[in-house]
Amino acid sequence: MADLSKMCIHTITTKPWKLTQAVEHYAESGVRGVSVWQDSAQELGPLKSGDLIRENNLEVVSYVRGGFFPHSSKAKRDKAIHDNKKMIDEAAELGAPMLVLVCGAEPNLDLEESRKQIQGGIEAIVHYAAKNKVQLTIEPLHPMYADTRSAINTLRQANVMAEAIASKWVGVAVDVYHLWWDPDLEEEIYRCQEHGNFSAFHICDWNVPTTDLLLDRGLMGEGCIKLDQIKKWVIKSGFEGFHEVEIFSEKFWKQDQKEFMDKIVKSFSDYWKS
Ligand code: ZN
Repeated sequence: MADLSKMCIHTITTKPWKLTQAVEHYAESGVRGVSVWQDSAQELGPLKSGDLIRENNLEVVSYVRGGFFPHSSKAKRDKAIHDNKKMIDEAAELGAPMLVLVCGAEPNLDLEESRKQIQGGIEAIVHYAAKNKVQLTIEPLHPMYADTRSAINTLRQANVMAEAIASKWVGVAVDVYHLWWDPDLEEEIYRCQEHGNFSAFHICDWNVPTTDLLLDRGLMGEGCIKLDQIKKWVIKSGFEGFHEVEIFSEKFWKQDQKEFMDKIVKSFSDYWKS
């Protein structure tokens, strides 16, 4: 029997399944954690979704995703703050310890200005997050998304921001898809953990060639990411959290999800043994 004690799945990975189906199949497969995407919590609502997950002996690992702070207009920035507070409320109802942030970027603004607005946005809601016991988790995204999705593109930038805000209610998510190419990744992983900011670890693979810049992530072992090496660094850093499978893939979403689930478990087991 494979060791899946550190295995978590993001519900977006099996997007065609409703939450009830996903939870049933994850539990059956021996998965231990679930990161819940906002869409998948809408049918039952966050409160019942969280109960359902725990009734199936699964742990809610995170709620995905808040953020998108930078905007040229103040009205839009204010709306982002409002929307993020609502996401914090939902994360609290779900029983999620963290809300993952896709921080945002605005093509009309300099990246530097976008980063300032991101930090301002997080600082504006960190007390609210603390009151609700939900951590705000900054996820750096691959630089190909620096136009509209995130002006935070390296682990160093995420570390610098988390250290500047210096709250235990702000952390960092390390996702191999976004960060595998970074020559500073090893040292920044250790730094992240040393400062107490290493909150989440997301895994998948980078397909070669990639056919879509958003919806063509691979299963662990299918692509060119040196996952065994990054996993070693993560474990050496002292990180003890879940290893979260997060795969957006039009190709896999078209397949029978139960068969896909078996492939996920197999690829996770191989990854874990490596
Ligand atoms: Zn991720």
